[in-house]
Amino acid sequence: MSRASAAMGSRTLVGKYELGRTLGEGSFGKVKFARNTQSTGEYAVAIKIIDRHRVLSSHMVEQIKREISTMKMIKHPNVLNILEVMASKTKIYIVLEYVGGGELFDKIARQGKLKEGVARMYFQQLINAVDYCHSRGVYHRDLKPENLLLDSHGVLKVSDFGLSAFSKQVREDGLLHTACGTPNYVAPEVLNDKGYDGTTSDVWSCGVILFVLMAGYLPFEEPNLMVLYRKIYKADFSFPPWFSSNAKRLIKRILDPNPLTRITIPEILENDWFKKDYKQPCFRQEEDVNLDDVDAVFNDSEDYLVSERKEKPVSMNAFELISRSQGFSLENLFDKQMQQGLVKRETRFTSTCPANEIMSKIEEAAKPLGFNVHKRNYKMKLQGDKSGRKGQLAVATEVFEVAPSLHMVELRKTGGDTLEFHKFYKTFSSGLKDIVWTSDSNKEETS
Ligand code: AMP
Repeated sequence: MSRASAAMGSRTLVGKYELGRTLGEGSFGKVKFARNTQSTGEYAVAIKIIDRHRVLSSHMVEQIKREISTMKMIKHPNVLNILEVMASKTKIYIVLEYVGGGELFDKIARQGKLKEGVARMYFQQLINAVDYCHSRGVYHRDLKPENLLLDSHGVLKVSDFGLSAFSKQVREDGLLHTACGTPNYVAPEVLNDKGYDGTTSDVWSCGVILFVLMAGYLPFEEPNLMVLYRKIYKADFSFPPWFSSNAKRLIKRILDPNPLTRITIPEILENDWFKKDYKQPCFRQEEDVNLDDVDAVFNDSEDYLVSERKEKPVSMNAFELISRSQGFSLENLFDKQMQQGLVKRETRFTSTCPANEIMSKIEEAAKPLGFNVHKRNYKMKLQGDKSGRKGQLAVATEVFEVAPSLHMVELRKTGGDTLEFHKFYKTFSSGLKDIVWTSDSNKEETS
């Protein structure tokens, strides 16, 4: 178990940031919680870590540089703020404001569909963010619920604007596969790859998101990718009975397969359903923003390179322990979600079983669900069967030693649809019941 202990004991520094737990894994790579060791005020940040060679060898460097510069200047209440960029010899680090409210999608996975008024409020914030970025020449091109985060006040923050060129979208058999599974949110003109306008395709994705918020499920969902494509091309979907007729009318106009006749953002802003309880976003324009860091990273300059430094205290420090807990609070150190049947894109549980036994139990629980298991030390990758009905889910797990007879197990979705992950997790977690340790206080709370 020495490797796992060492991983818990060391701390990693990049520039002035101390890296903490992994917050998630998106289309670009890992996102880590970090703290600014030089800050006296707000110190929490999120750092997106991207393979540098992939970026610098791409023919899109100039576009990426322009979009990141613009995004660094944008300070909009509904757009996740880029604070800084750094590069090491092998990686690019995008430092973002940290938001602690989780993904909007988790709300739906937990509570099901949202009330129409609540869905409208988030949709208004989404349109405000999209409208503003478009006005600055930045398109998202990969809008989906995973990119919709909430801050601690419940305000929507759209992430990954201007980062689409980093995305690991690949074409196989002439079909577009996004890193997060099937392309349910992608506009028909993007799917048929005939060149498209970022403005209208982002509007389509906003329409799919609005549908999901109000319905609790996707308008286009098929296990077979070709059938899914056909449905998207024809905008072949139906409304659930609880949608109001005004909402239906608006969604129909957004999910118009023809981008030339699809409703535009100025028209959405004038729509009666949209305008109800609308609050104009208020924010200050960008001030003098220093772009030297962006220039240094994308001009391949050696002068400003940072490196990842490992420092090794004797045992796991309090920061590591707290930062791995939910909501940055010790109270939630040991995840209660599992006992309540809830799970986000990532979760963790504690176990008093030996690490090898935990690894075997995870393997035993995953294999009957059609997952291929790859083990390395105390890490495991569970890869869903491509052709299976559950799509291409991928889950990463790692076992850490907290104390000699106490282990913490992290489980993180690294690919596939979040709703699918929730379904998988329900079955999977029941196979792990024997090894999960529940503290007495938690037992009392949940009984
Ligand atoms: P992304 O690559 O943007 O899809 O990020 C993957 C996941 O990391 C998200 O879905 C969030 O759960 C988490 N995440 C990304 N950025 C942040 C942030 N700025 N603050 C908190 N969590 C984040």
